[in-house]
Amino acid sequence: MAKIVIVGAGIGGIPMAFEMKELARKEDEVVVIADTPTFHFVPSNPWVGVNWRKPEDIKVELAPVFKKKKITFIQQQATRFHPENNQVEVADGTLVDYDYLIIATGPKLAFDEIPVLGPKGFTQSVCHVDHAG
Ligand SMILES: Cc1cc2nc3c(=O)[nH]c(=O)nc-3n(C[C@H](O)[C@H](O)[C@H](O)COP(=O)(O)OP(=O)(O)OC[C@H]3O[C@@H](n4cnc5c(N)ncnc54)[C@H](O)[C@@H]3O)c2cc1C
Repeated sequence: MAKIVIVGAGIGGIPMAFEMKELARKEDEVVVIADTPTFHFVPSNPWVGVNWRKPEDIKVELAPVFKKKKITFIQQQATRFHPENNQVEVADGTLVDYDYLIIATGPKLAFDEIPVLGPKGFTQSVCHVDHAG
């Protein structure tokens, strides 16, 4: 049996989890670790920004989707990787073992690199639904 852990449930992580489940053997376990309970379709963020959609309209609850696909879902932020032990540490301190690890955590937005940049500063952003809404 192999345990395949995917960190991140965005446009990269979710299709990876679905395809991995299809490719894996019956006895293998596919696990997704994500820091949010919902997926949001990033390319639709501008619609939220101009009020054509509400944030809820472009969000999907992850837990029922993964349950249906028999994929284990851990709704926690991954805080540290321990490659020497094949483990991912999550926010509550739990260590999640893996045989194979896929990191799909997306970009880190670097608004802090330029003073006053970003949604808390003086520029707009549609990079995340929470910025657009
Ligand atoms: C406005 C806009 C329009 C776009 N339009 C298009 C388009 O038309 N076509 C196209 O191909 N691309 C488009 N893109 C780009 C595309 O949306 C991104 O390339 C894509 O979302 C990246 O997917 P990802 O899964 O790598 O990252 P993300 O979508 O950012 O997903 C990463 C996930 O990982 C989670 N995560 C991050 N860190 C952790 C952690 N430590 N622990 C647990 N979970 C974590 C995040 O919460 C997030 O859910 C667009 C982007 C924007 C902003």
